[in-house]
Amino acid sequence: MRALALIADRKLELADLPAPAAPSAGEVQVRVAAVALNHLDLWGYRGMAFAKRKFPLVVGAEAAGEVAAVGTGVAAIKPGDRVVMYGALTCGTCNACRAGRDNLCENVGGIMGFHVDGFARDLVNMPARLVIPVPAGVAMRDAACAPIGFATVQHMLFDNAKLEPGETVLVHAGGSGIGTAAIKMAKAIGCTVITTVGDDGKADKARALGADHVINYRSDRFEGAVRKLTARKGVDVVFEHVGAETFNGSLLCLKRGGRLVTCGATSGPSTTINLMQLFQQQYRIIGSFGASLRNIRESLAKMAAGLTPVIDTEVPLAEFERGLARLESRQVFGKIVVMF
Ligand SMILES: [Zn+2]
Repeated sequence: MRALALIADRKLELADLPAPAAPSAGEVQVRVAAVALNHLDLWGYRGMAFAKRKFPLVVGAEAAGEVAAVGTGVAAIKPGDRVVMYGALTCGTCNACRAGRDNLCENVGGIMGFHVDGFARDLVNMPARLVIPVPAGVAMRDAACAPIGFATVQHMLFDNAKLEPGETVLVHAGGSGIGTAAIKMAKAIGCTVITTVGDDGKADKARALGADHVINYRSDRFEGAVRKLTARKGVDVVFEHVGAETFNGSLLCLKRGGRLVTCGATSGPSTTINLMQLFQQQYRIIGSFGASLRNIRESLAKMAAGLTPVIDTEVPLAEFERGLARLESRQVFGKIVVMF
């Protein structure tokens, strides 16, 4: 079978590997159909000094496919079912797992495609409990964006920031994979959405997705623009993932008691904050990483109801690297999906 492996930092190789053994008890074997790219893939590709992992490492952290075979004791899933996979090897038995807070698993065995072998291969064996059926009518290409892209946003906006209909939300980097999903999900419940983009072409596309106000952060200071748009009141929620470049400005955009939820630090990991401002304004700052199995099911249900991901580009497996380069260049609007 084909497998795309990282053999050194910034060096990928398409290899021909033996297919995995038949699935063991409690496992399913999935024929991968689509892998969606995320910033996590870029971090892994560039190399991170602190990440514990060994080369070669099969890349791909978010995927959809079709069940090829099932092991004994697997009743809920059968060959031919279309599925997506939960990409972190959780234990399934700790308190967090049993409470459905999968992304807080106390014994997680690594993130697939980052710490351990991922999905960019023709066949993969998975524990059946980490495999989620795709509803009828949802394309494989779209389903591949559910486990990380959509589920991360679902978890951030609704579990963590507790976004309510009628509230105002600032979505940073509205052209990114998660930014586009956040705009659509917030609009779908009747929120007012303000978003930031880096060029005017993206501004038109963000408006077409339903964003009420679009700020080009290269020509306008977003903090000032948000104060003006909200009559100096500020927004209820800020959806952060840009990091050092925007974090303090994001806090200035919040109304008293507002919530900032963050899942990324693309522009840099460190900043200082004013603690007086934090407690006097009664801000809530919430870190968010990954999602639960429930969030993936919720994401797929939204897709089945018509809230589909914005796809920037489809590339074949052999052009995975071109997809990463496009993601790194920040020229994307939506998700890049590698089709098998
Ligand atoms: Zn666990």
